[in-house]
Amino acid sequence: MRGFDTILVVDWSAAEGVRRAERDSIWIGAVRDGMAEKPRPMPTRREAETWLADRIGSEIAAGRRVMAAFDFPFGYPAGFAEAVTGASDPLRLWDWLAERIEDDARGRNNRFEVAADLNRLFPGTGPFWGKPHRDRFPDIPYHGRSRDGHGMAEKRACEVASGASSSVWQLFFNPTVGSQALMGLPMLSRLRRIEGLAVWPFEPVDDAPAVLAEIWPGLIEQAVRGREGIRDMQQVARLAWAFSRLSTAELTDMMDVDAPEEGWILGAGHGPRLTELAMTAPDPMADPPPAARAPLEPPPLSNDCFALPPGVHWTPVDEALDLLRARLSPVAGRETVPAVGADGRILAADAVARRANPPGANSAVDGYGFAHEATGAGPQHLPLIAGRAAAGAPLAGAVPRGQAVRILTGALIPEGVDTVVLEEDTRTDGTAIAFNGPVKRGANTRRAGEDVDAGAVLLPAGHALRPADLALLAATGVAEVEVFRRLRVGVLSTGDELGAPGVDPDPAVTYDANRPMLLALAARWGHEPVDLGHCADDRDALRAVLDGAGTDVIVTSGGASAGDEDHVSALLGETGSLAAWRIALKPGRPLALGIWKGRPVFGVPGNPVAAFTCALIFARPALSLLAGGGWRAPLAMTVPAGFAKRKKAGRREFLRARLRDGRAEVFASEGSGRISGLAWAEGFVELPDGPAEIAPGDPVRFLPYAGFGL
Ligand code: AMP
Ligand code: MG
Repeated sequence: MRGFDTILVVDWSAAEGVRRAERDSIWIGAVRDGMAEKPRPMPTRREAETWLADRIGSEIAAGRRVMAAFDFPFGYPAGFAEAVTGASDPLRLWDWLAERIEDDARGRNNRFEVAADLNRLFPGTGPFWGKPHRDRFPDIPYHGRSRDGHGMAEKRACEVASGASSSVWQLFFNPTVGSQALMGLPMLSRLRRIEGLAVWPFEPVDDAPAVLAEIWPGLIEQAVRGREGIRDMQQVARLAWAFSRLSTAELTDMMDVDAPEEGWILGAGHGPRLTELAMTAPDPMADPPPAARAPLEPPPLSNDCFALPPGVHWTPVDEALDLLRARLSPVAGRETVPAVGADGRILAADAVARRANPPGANSAVDGYGFAHEATGAGPQHLPLIAGRAAAGAPLAGAVPRGQAVRILTGALIPEGVDTVVLEEDTRTDGTAIAFNGPVKRGANTRRAGEDVDAGAVLLPAGHALRPADLALLAATGVAEVEVFRRLRVGVLSTGDELGAPGVDPDPAVTYDANRPMLLALAARWGHEPVDLGHCADDRDALRAVLDGAGTDVIVTSGGASAGDEDHVSALLGETGSLAAWRIALKPGRPLALGIWKGRPVFGVPGNPVAAFTCALIFARPALSLLAGGGWRAPLAMTVPAGFAKRKKAGRREFLRARLRDGRAEVFASEGSGRISGLAWAEGFVELPDGPAEIAPGDPVRFLPYAGFGL
């Protein structure tokens, strides 16, 4: 089964009238291409139905697979459909209800009349119960306990399995699930007219471009309880998020049920997993402002090009990073290479010492060696034996007790010696030495293996080798290492306006600044940069380049948003793998991620300042994971600000900065067109997602370029 690009979650309502207050509204949550939308309140069922039909239709038209999930039962306990329609097919029952339920534009409806009709089809009293007035609708008992002999089970198997306490027979008093189903199933019956739509679990859904499913917010109660804001809004936002975050395998598993008549709650039995994911949903109460209701009105003017468009959720930086971290794994193969020259390579297996360091006990200084037990406190006199012990030229034979031997740094400790006195602490005439005792036993000697034992793990798999590591490998006899093959990183620039740097007089030509920068970054990070050149804004040309790239990963710049000329995101969209992230980040914003023929593609923005920032913040750790080097967070330090600045909530900001006199100073202009600021800077000041007011001297986070491996 293919995964869903768009998840809609609807909190239905059976209430009468137009719900002006948002807390009484029907709430719809949506996540598209991994992006949460601000939940929408709908004042009437009619408006909600129209919106849903439009949205499902437009998603299908755009080639996005959509699941619309509703919080009321799609079926009734076994036997009910047949008793009403003569067939056990629940979809026939939907149509039966659609023919009878009336619901006007003001939300007035005849559900109690229809329920009374239904009750008359059954013997005894019930099964429907609950009503606003004791005296009206005599075929509907006021209390549930007054029912008798109707022959229907109280709950469906899925309600029993998931511990849901509500009953589909209950029409009044909370929870009014029974009324919601009576008022919801006719709507679903009408939505079924949309071509390609299938109802889970009654129809095969694997190939359907749109799927309707039943859900139950009770499954994620832990993720909703105690949250600020309207409960229904939290439920739909978090459920939509949770379902959008499931892997296709998990979703396929959840959809694999056998419930041809009663239906099933999607995710029943998987509450903890859904709850875990629902906890990570962006807070629907947070910025941006509530969804605009009139889509055709022009957007409010703003002099801030990063203003958050209404109704769209931005992916916070940390969340985007968490996602990358969770989804990516090493793709590079392995090879064995000489340790000499392996600087920068990433170990694919632990490097293990082949020999101890030091391999034998030796002297740490130039001096004289002897047996400690023959010495004591006060002036000491020891005759010298002939010969000496030097590094690489050990003494042949032993040193007799009570005598000393000349010994040099690094020399193996001769037999009969356990202590060395420093040359500077002695006097000698060439035949004997004198020094002041006592000397500590073992002084100035190094034990065999005191640094590293043979067989010890020197460096773990995933470690990127540095010059010092090469010394350790060599010292312990490791001549070859198993490393990941270098990640081949293709770098491609896109845009009709781009040209090669030169002296082109045409000011409409933009010199391609990103390609040299991104190629150099890839090289600095230890990957193998592959120059894929420059491609015009032409979808077929771009497709051909991506097809022919042959690299492990492709980094493109430009065309990553959702505009007419944004062919990178459009092409990735065709594969169904596009995650078009709008990251709450300045400078930055669009990041188009996708898989092209099995290879990850990172589309960074075209603006060089944004491209650089996104490359450092997102591409560096992601490429490191793909290359086998694990996740890499940049080095950060807290330093006093050398500037003043005020920022609003809603996005993280990276200011071009450098340290002078222990303070972080920032580039005079924050304009994202100022490439000179990138070169002026020696790092970033990172300002938090929330609002901030910074005065000179306040602590700020400084991220030196060096901490990004530059
Ligand atoms: P885009 O992301 O394609 O909409 O491009 C945003 C801005 O960045 C436009 O002004 C482009 O001309 C500019 N741009 C795109 N790619 C490059 C590049 N490789 N070098 C310099 N500027 C670029
Ligand atoms: Mg462009």
